[in-house]
Amino acid sequence: AKPIVAIVGRPNVGKSTLFNMLVGERLSIVKDTPGVTRDRIYADVNWLNYHFTLMDTGGIEPETNNQMLRHMREQAEMAIEMADVVMFVVDVKQGVVDADYKVAEMLRKAQKKIVLVVNKVDNFDKLMPDVYEFYNLGLGDPYPISSIGKLGIGDMLDEVTALF
Ligand code: GDP
Ligand code: MG
Repeated sequence: AKPIVAIVGRPNVGKSTLFNMLVGERLSIVKDTPGVTRDRIYADVNWLNYHFTLMDTGGIEPETNNQMLRHMREQAEMAIEMADVVMFVVDVKQGVVDADYKVAEMLRKAQKKIVLVVNKVDNFDKLMPDVYEFYNLGLGDPYPISSIGKLGIGDMLDEVTALF
């Protein structure tokens, strides 16, 4: 069976943008309103000699009572359970926020193979100092990418596929 790679992270970090970019189609809805991906969306991706199923999820917002956010969290937890590798996406523009630590903790407990993806690094020269801040999550090397600018994608996918 093909490995399953799940994209998880807080709402609005760019998960669906990344998903669409990797799939090469706009299958997933991208919106400035956080949390528009209500359910899991799948697509097959071929990268060099690797074939895997990519899964987009609604954002994980830890410890919330809001019904929609709770539903998204459940979807994300289910995706994590199913996944062989988890791409944990964070946002360089927002920096490390408290919810990122909570999601990181949840992923560590799930004992999944994790690639820490720092999105929205649209300018590598300028924003790299902000990327290093994500070492604080304790998940190893952060992989800087720009889903819109298509930067850093090759290095990130090399790491993802190395974990299969
Ligand atoms: P999701 O909620 O995590 O699925 O996030 P979306 O994919 O819906 O994106 C949320 C917002 O971030 C949208 O306005 C995107 O255009 C924007 N975005 C996504 N990727 C990038 C990126 O690489 N750079 C910048 N500057 N904005 C991005
Ligand atoms: Mg989304």
